[in-house]
Parts: sequence; C-alpha cells; structure tokens
Amino acid sequence: SVDKEKASNVAKIKVVVRKRPLNKREMSKKEEDIISIVPNSNYLTVHETKLKVDLTEYVEKHEFVFDAVLNEDVSNDEVYSETVEPIVPIIFQRTKATCFAYGQTGSGKTYTMQPLPLKASEDILRLMHNTYRNQGFQLFVSFFEIYGGKLFDLLNDRRKLCMREDGKQQVCIVGLQEYRVSNVETIKDFIEKGNATRSIGTTGANEESSRSHAILQLAIKRSADGSESKPARLVGKLSFIDLAGSERGADTTDNDKQTRMEGAEINKSLLALKECIRALDNDQGHIPFRGSKLTEVLRDSFVGDSRTVMISCISPSSGSCEHTLNTLRYADRVK
Ligand code: ADP
Ligand code: MG
Repeated sequence: SVDKEKASNVAKIKVVVRKRPLNKREMSKKEEDIISIVPNSNYLTVHETKLKVDLTEYVEKHEFVFDAVLNEDVSNDEVYSETVEPIVPIIFQRTKATCFAYGQTGSGKTYTMQPLPLKASEDILRLMHNTYRNQGFQLFVSFFEIYGGKLFDLLNDRRKLCMREDGKQQVCIVGLQEYRVSNVETIKDFIEKGNATRSIGTTGANEESSRSHAILQLAIKRSADGSESKPARLVGKLSFIDLAGSERGADTTDNDKQTRMEGAEINKSLLALKECIRALDNDQGHIPFRGSKLTEVLRDSFVGDSRTVMISCISPSSGSCEHTLNTLRYADRVK
C-alpha cells in the first residue's frame, strides 16, 4: 500500500550532527572554531592541535561522514525538516520512533530538542484534522526524566514513577500522567512546564539537568470503532530524548559518592543505548535493552518496525576538542 511504501522510505536509523556557533565565552577565551564542514555535504573535519615531543604544535585532522551534517547557520526549522518531519506520517502506521539529542553539556542538546515535539505535534494535529479527519485519532503527551536510574514525572511535580512490563513487550510506567491535547498552545504549555520542573535544583555549573535524561512522548491513539466514546488504543509513538551530558558518564572517579554513582549510571545507559541502536540496525533478534533504565523504558521503541534519529550536538571550540571527538566517535558507531 501507499502507506507501507511511505514507511519503508524512511531510514531505520539516521545520524545527524549539528554544530552550534562559537559563544561569547569561547570567543573571549580566544578559542577557535576547529570544525569544518563542506557546504551541502555530509563531511565534517575536526582539526585537533597537538604537541610534538619538542613542544612544537601540529594539527591532526579527523574526518567523519554522517547522514547529514548541519552547520552553525542551520535553523531549528531546518533541523526539524532533516530529522523528525519525515517520520511524523508513519506514526499513524503503527510505527514507534525515537529522536535523541546526544552531546556534552552546553553543546546545544536542549536548544535543538525543545522545538521538535512542538513542530511534530503541529504536523500530527494537522494530519488528524485533514487526512485522518473523523477517524477517532487522539494525541497524548507525557514528559518524564530518568535521574540516577529513577523515573520522575515532569508533568506531575516530579512524582516518582516505576516501570512495569506487560506480557506483550509493552512498557508501562505506572502513574505517569498522560494528557490528551488537541491544540499546539496546550502542548507548548506542557513542554515549558516540564522543562521548568526539570531544572529544579539547578546549582550553577553543576546543573542537575545535565545528569538526567528527559523523555517527552507523543502518543497517537485511536478508539476501536473510530468514535470518541470507546477507550483509545495506542497506534504509534514518537519519543524525544534530551540525553544527559555525555561527559557526565566520565564522572566515575569524582570524590563525591553520589556524583560517582550518577556518572556510572549515565555511562551505562549511553553504552546500552548505543548497543540497542546497533542491534536495531543489524536486525538481530536480541536487543540488549536490559543494560540500563533508559533502554528498558524505551524497550518497545526498539522492537518491531521502529525508527531512530540521533542528533549529535557539538561545540565548534578548540577547548571542547576532546569531548567533540568522543561525541563524533559515539555517533559514528551508532550509524
Ligand atoms: P545542552 O542542553 O547540550 O547543555 P544548550 O542547548 O542548553 O546545551 O545550549 C547551550 C547554550 O548554547 C544555550 O545558551 C543555547 O541557547 C546556545 N545554543 C545552543 N545551540 C545553539 C545554536 N545552534 N544556535 C545558537 N545558540 C545555540
Ligand atoms: Mg540541556
């Protein structure tokens, strides 16, 4: 059918890199832009300055190729067109899709991620009003975070949640508030509310939100006979995940025990995520989702006909070279 064809035309896994502009702080420290991108290509080069034994400098070039490479002048709207827009129509065809933002703290994950669910829900609601008019489709939103391996509802005062699996490989987060939404303004309010709830406990440089994964889900449901009166069943789901700062996974030798434990959990979840996405691509029967809370929660998005978009965010600055290379190598392995 046309719909099936539409679905098979959307890549199972897409890895996109987004470079942000140099910021004032980096410029004031005379840091340089070390990332070059050939316009309209998917090539990216990192120019790493190294020291020889005699302390003279030389530049080592690292070249990467991704599905798309977005320069600092690319707008959020263009990011949406490149990543999530092609996926939206197939959510109506029982597809589960996930969009991740990966990268070190300050690389632009939240800046990149925040507008995406809003634009996606605009498109979803438009499809519901036009193509699927009067067919009983409904849109729901939920928003939670994983912090230190525990789940908290961002739309319900950070209430602690627990996870359960039913026999049909469906993940159920007990107590998670799901709100039915029928206009973009309401969704905008929910996203803002959730993000504000997320940043509670912020303590300057060691911002708490950089240690948590924030997960916003848009679920499309439909009642059995297409009417409003019957209970609605899940059709497709689109998850937006603003991952913990990738550098946090290295906090495993910190003096503070709490920080060490959180670092270990983040490290575990980012490694497990990479393995799950790779398994998805190889069509292996076994998906190693049990490796972490993050991948367990996303279990039902890793089975069946699912789609994954990874947006790797990078700083252009020489001061972030090591983190940037780590991010690009991670993305390279996912691809
Ligand atoms: P992260 O969530 O990865 O820690 P943020 O999204 O909070 O990083 O971005 C850090 C800062 O950089 C913010 O002030 C944000 O507005 C700015 N920024 C990030 N990406 C861009 C971009 N592509 N264009 C302009 N400003 C950006
Ligand atoms: Mg952030």
